[in-house]
Amino acid sequence: MLGLGPRAERRRRALPASILRLPTIGVDIGGTKVIAGVVDGEGRVIDRIRTETPDKSKSPRVVEDVIVDLVLQLADKHDVHAVGVGAAGWVDADRSRVLFAPHLNWRNEPLQEALSERLRFPVVVENDANAAAWAEWRFGAGRGEDHMVMITLGTGIGGAVVRDGYVDRGKYGLAGEFGHMQVVPGGHRCPCGNRGCWEQYSSGNALVREARELVAEESPVVQPLLARAGGTPSGITGPLVTEAARDGDPVAVELLYEVGRWLGVGIANLAAALDPGRFVVGGGVSEAGDLLLGPAQDAFRRTLTGRGFRPEATVVHAALGNEAGLVGAADLARQVARRFRTIKRHRIERATTPR
Ligand SMILES: [Zn+2]
Repeated sequence: MLGLGPRAERRRRALPASILRLPTIGVDIGGTKVIAGVVDGEGRVIDRIRTETPDKSKSPRVVEDVIVDLVLQLADKHDVHAVGVGAAGWVDADRSRVLFAPHLNWRNEPLQEALSERLRFPVVVENDANAAAWAEWRFGAGRGEDHMVMITLGTGIGGAVVRDGYVDRGKYGLAGEFGHMQVVPGGHRCPCGNRGCWEQYSSGNALVREARELVAEESPVVQPLLARAGGTPSGITGPLVTEAARDGDPVAVELLYEVGRWLGVGIANLAAALDPGRFVVGGGVSEAGDLLLGPAQDAFRRTLTGRGFRPEATVVHAALGNEAGLVGAADLARQVARRFRTIKRHRIERATTPR
C-alpha cells in the first residue's frame, strides 16, 4: 500500500498495470555530471551511463545533444518508453521550461518541447529535488507517508513536498527552495544576494567554510584534520570532514554536529509551516549518517513549537542515495505519459535533420 490520497488513487487506477511496469529512462543533470539510467517499474536502475555536464558557456542545444545521445545509447539496448529529466534548476509550473539553472546556460529554456520534438516520445522535465523526493516517496524512505518533506543537503539545500501522491510544486513551480529561508538575520552572505540563509549554516558549503575557518586559526586541535587535507585549508572537502568524523576526529565530529544542529532548527521551522508526517534527509552531506542526523533530531525536538502537545514528525535518512533524482525523473515520466511508443533511433535521427 503506497498511502496514496484519493485523487492520486483514482489517477493511478486509470493507468493500466502494464503501463506502470514499463521501463523508462531517467536523466539527472547535475552541476558536474549528467547520468542517465533505465529504471524498471519497481524503481530499480537496470542500466546506467554518465558523462560530464557541458560547460556553462555552451549553448542550450549542446546540453540537449548530450541528453539525446545518452537516451539513444540506452534505447539501443533496452525497450524503453518515455523519458524523465531532472535538472538542477527552476522548472516552471507546467514543467515545460527551465526558468533558470545556475550550472547551465538555461534561461527560460523550453526544454520539454525541444526534447519531445527531437525524441518523438513523452518527455517530462522536473526539478531535481522534486524528482528525488518523488523517488523516495515511491520506493524509498517516504513510502506509505501521505505528507512528506524531503531535504537534500548538497553544496546547498534543496527540498520538496510530496502530499497525497503529488509533488506540491507551488503556484509557479518554485516551492521547496528551503535553503534560502532566513535563519540568522544579518548572518553570512549568500550567493542569492541575501544574508543568513539556512544553507549558509547547514550544507556542504557551510561545513567546508567552517572547517577552513577553524584551520586558519592554527589551533593545535585542528592539526589532524589539516594533515588529512594535505596541509592546506583548500584541501578540506565535505567528504574529508565526514571521513575524519567517522574515524573519531573530535573537531570533525563537532563540525558535523553544528551543521546537524542547524539542520534540526530549519526542520522545526518547516514543521511549523507544513506539519508533515516525515522529513527525509538526502544529498551528499547526509552520508555522514547519525553524526549529522543525531544532532538534527535533537535540535528539531528542542526547537519544535508546541512540543509535548503535538504529534511529532519523524526525521529519517533517505534510502536511495545519489540515484534518487534519476529514479524519480524516470518514474514521473511513467506516471505522466499517456502515449507510449518504443524509442526508435531512425525516428529520432529523422527528427534531428536540419529544419
Ligand atoms: Zn540565499
